[in-house]
Amino acid sequence: MTDIKDILVLSGDGIGPEVVPVACAVMQQAVAAHSVEINFSQALVGGIAIEATGGPLPEATLAKAHAADAVLLGAVGGPQWEDRPMDQRPEKGLLGLRAGLELFANLRPALLFAPLVEASSLKTELVEDLDILIVRELTGGIYFGEPRGVTIEDNERVGVNSYVYREHEIERIARVAFDLASKRNGRLCSVDKANVLEVTQLWRDVVIEVAADYPGVELSHMYVDTAGMQLVRAPKQFDVVVTGNLFGDILSDVAAMLTGSLGMLPSASLAASGKGLYEPVHGSAPDIAGQDKANPLATILSTAMMCRYSLALPDAADAIEAAVNRVLEKGLRTADIYQDGHADGLRLVGTRAMGDAVLNALEEGQGHPEQGQEAS
Ligand code: NAD
Repeated sequence: MTDIKDILVLSGDGIGPEVVPVACAVMQQAVAAHSVEINFSQALVGGIAIEATGGPLPEATLAKAHAADAVLLGAVGGPQWEDRPMDQRPEKGLLGLRAGLELFANLRPALLFAPLVEASSLKTELVEDLDILIVRELTGGIYFGEPRGVTIEDNERVGVNSYVYREHEIERIARVAFDLASKRNGRLCSVDKANVLEVTQLWRDVVIEVAADYPGVELSHMYVDTAGMQLVRAPKQFDVVVTGNLFGDILSDVAAMLTGSLGMLPSASLAASGKGLYEPVHGSAPDIAGQDKANPLATILSTAMMCRYSLALPDAADAIEAAVNRVLEKGLRTADIYQDGHADGLRLVGTRAMGDAVLNALEEGQGHPEQGQEAS
């Protein structure tokens, strides 16, 4: 019997409407091999929603997101909306979705595909076979703590933000990270600044308490400054990293750069229910929008994460990642990952051609499973 999954598609702005359809086609084909059919529906978010409805997150969009099994987002934003007040900008639509769906766990893999090893900012031997997963708490910490703001005291301005974590917020993100580590290589590094910040001493204490339920996972702790150094000195020591909102924001971008281009980076944001919002890490890239130049692989890899974390289809996820790897091995490159200095055997392609190549590679892999190759 065919299982039907409802996926809400929010293409958004800029290159979003170019990369999202390509990714949907790949996902549709990948899940078909597992007797799953996808019912894609569309809604508005970001700048396009502002133009159509006056606000970046129409109520109808949030309602559809609640009803769907998972949400795929392209990107939001663009120069035409940058002069609007902060709470009426396209990016507010994304923040509203995260809050409305209670997406507290942000997963950012830093996975280096072997054919792109030269694109890393580090030496090959340091990053070959790199596969790190950064788990960032997304709805708490200093980005949301109260009190906050700028006031006047003794005739000068004083800025305040509050770094607040409640025990239950730490416990639930720790559980997500331990679960993921137990399905990967069994190592979890919790990053804090417990030598200076009491709130992160609580973070460390709660993570240690949760660890008692995961005897198969080896837990370590690292101060955030050391973690920053270690990520660029010896990144392969990490398997899963769990940390708060602020540190996770910074460390996930550092880890991302170890793998090369922004156009290759997927992400997932999960709720306690398992519902997730999946999106490429990059923005709307207005400088290349509408030119068939955008790399669709980050969005395609986001659908692989959706298959793995929200749809319980790990084989479809593996198949998508293997197809991406195969296309890169064949030398196909969008402009952002085309390296002039290493151009031998490479072919420059656009968004649609890259999508078609992944579809073909998926078909080859499905027809000939023995040719299937894990992403490295
Ligand atoms: P950006 O990620 O859109 O672009 C940065 C650079 O990377 C640009 O040169 C762009 O051409 C390139 N790039 C990005 N994605 C690419 C892809 N898939 N293929 C090839 N090249 C790619 O960041 P920005 O320029 O700082 O922001 C542009 C707009 O996007 C802003 O309005 C910003 O607020 C918004 N933004 C949205 C999100 C989101 O929707 N999650 C994230 C970041 C930025």
